[in-house]
Amino acid sequence: MGKVLVIGAGGVSSAAVTKMAMNADIFTEITLASRRKFKCDDIAANIKTRTGVEIATAEVDAMDVPAVVALIRQTGATLLVNLALPYQDLVLMDACLEAGINYLDTANYEPEDVAKFEYHWQWAYQDKFKQAGLTAILGSGFDPGVTSVFATWLRKHKLDTIRQIDILDCNGGDNGKVFATNFNPEINIREVTAEARHWENNDWVTSPAMTHKVPFDFPVVGKKNMYLMYHEELESLKTHFPEIQRARFWMTFGDAYINHVRVLEGIGMTSIKPVMHDGVEIIPLQFLKSVLPDPSELGELTKGKTCIGDIATGMKDGVEKTFYIYNICDHEECYAEVGSQAVSYTTGVPAMIGAAMVLKGEWAEAGVWNMEQLNPDPFMEMLNTQGLPWEVHELDAPVDF
Ligand code: NDP
Repeated sequence: MGKVLVIGAGGVSSAAVTKMAMNADIFTEITLASRRKFKCDDIAANIKTRTGVEIATAEVDAMDVPAVVALIRQTGATLLVNLALPYQDLVLMDACLEAGINYLDTANYEPEDVAKFEYHWQWAYQDKFKQAGLTAILGSGFDPGVTSVFATWLRKHKLDTIRQIDILDCNGGDNGKVFATNFNPEINIREVTAEARHWENNDWVTSPAMTHKVPFDFPVVGKKNMYLMYHEELESLKTHFPEIQRARFWMTFGDAYINHVRVLEGIGMTSIKPVMHDGVEIIPLQFLKSVLPDPSELGELTKGKTCIGDIATGMKDGVEKTFYIYNICDHEECYAEVGSQAVSYTTGVPAMIGAAMVLKGEWAEAGVWNMEQLNPDPFMEMLNTQGLPWEVHELDAPVDF
């Protein structure tokens, strides 16, 4: 159905590209390019062994727009899937506009020197993509991504309005490491050490990072402590569903993880401000990343399940209702299928499905779109057939935490 160029060859990319190869009727030609070509070649070899599909690989610096444009032209791709880092979003959107192809990513743009998690930089491309007749899909991972599509699906099929929504991200898995993050350590630690923020009564309410803790009994996984955090989809959800009075995001962390982050933060290791070391300028968090385990290598070690979903309360035909919609994913089953743990899988599979929506013409309107703005139905169908089945249950009452 279409040719795709994927940029970035980390944990998420490995899962996404493997699933693309498993859907070769949709992804007729795949090129995987990253800063270091050997990472692409390793993924390509794994894909060849698992699926028999050959993909092309290339080396490219995503920050080099002319080089990316030349690569797009050489591959003949009609869609660029950005699975590199949030710092590259804008330059890759520029490259897509110049080469005249569609764009998709899984995380919103961040300037390197300040952890902002704001959409305005990417939303500013709306007119450019519209005028060019091109589509840009923002945040096609699990959260943001599937959780946003879940919200739209509930609003379309189960609720007329959404008054309050809680996104609950639970990783009940264990990788046996003293301290490791499940996706890029730099981005992960920037997220969890940022001030917590949620939307309530038309305003942002802030609290210090990792302080508001609530125990929650997750389906299948069981009881875990979850922490209130800021997450980028809160901004887009409250913008696109203006009736929302309260939107919150929660993520589970074990005590050991929280203690490590607190100590690392306390001694300055999570800082993104440059410091001089032996006459060389380094960024402490980037140095920390280089000594932490590589998340793409945790697949074999990780056991347990994830449970990610939304609890939404709103009105249906004049009656208040609450629904819990979620997916359960097993780390070991993901590893057996694609060679990645469930955090890479639950991000990579929705990236593949979002890309499939564009190539199949299901999401074809020109412009820059967050996931909750698009028709959820074909995406929800593919979740069920591509390894991320979901369940929806009506709850007796709104959440009381
Ligand atoms: P990784 O660090 O494992 O992979 C990033 C890849 O991008 C690496 O291969 C890296 O190259 C490559 N890269 C970085 N800079 C450049 C550049 N300038 N040019 C070319 N390639 C570059 O990250 P993850 O796979 O864990 O995460 C990928 C993305 O997914 C991130 O943006 C993350 O925020 C997002 N994400 C989204 C989630 C969601 O649910 N929405 C959940 C989890 C992650 P090299 O190998 O040389 O370092």
